[in-house]
Amino acid sequence: MIDFDTLLEHARAAMATAYAPYSRFKVGAAALVDDGRIVTGCNVENAALGVTLCAECGMVSELIRGGGGKLVRFACVGPDGQPVTPCGRCRQLLFEHAAPGLELLTPRGVERMEDMLPGAFGPAQLEAESLRLAQLEERVRGLEERAAAGQRDESVGQEEEGND
Ligand SMILES: [Zn+2]
Repeated sequence: MIDFDTLLEHARAAMATAYAPYSRFKVGAAALVDDGRIVTGCNVENAALGVTLCAECGMVSELIRGGGGKLVRFACVGPDGQPVTPCGRCRQLLFEHAAPGLELLTPRGVERMEDMLPGAFGPAQLEAESLRLAQLEERVRGLEERAAAGQRDESVGQEEEGND
């Protein structure tokens, strides 16, 4: 498997291409994908500073453009070529595309995604919520159909009795 030294080389090469005229804090990111690809990105600042893209944004864009996949190992470097930790927004971004146990190289050493963003909100929560909404919509549709047919919904009374 591609090691962190190789990822650091890619991250440093990406960092050299960064567009950071305002902060001069160039960042490069590189990650190993579960299919063996290496994806990279650099930060792209903007005169409207809030519009600035972190290196991870470009890297994830490359991941998706190249066919998707899950990130297995990740490294990110600052202007001195040494590891930096992803910002809060990028931890969320990485979480969405992380393979289970994604390893991140940080100034403190190698850390796992679940330690970088404990209790994260992710696709699983949205899926659970959409399932709940779909069930509610189906129930409402059923009630509407019965109402349209002039029937009383007996299940409503029964549930209220059970709710104490
Ligand atoms: Zn970021």
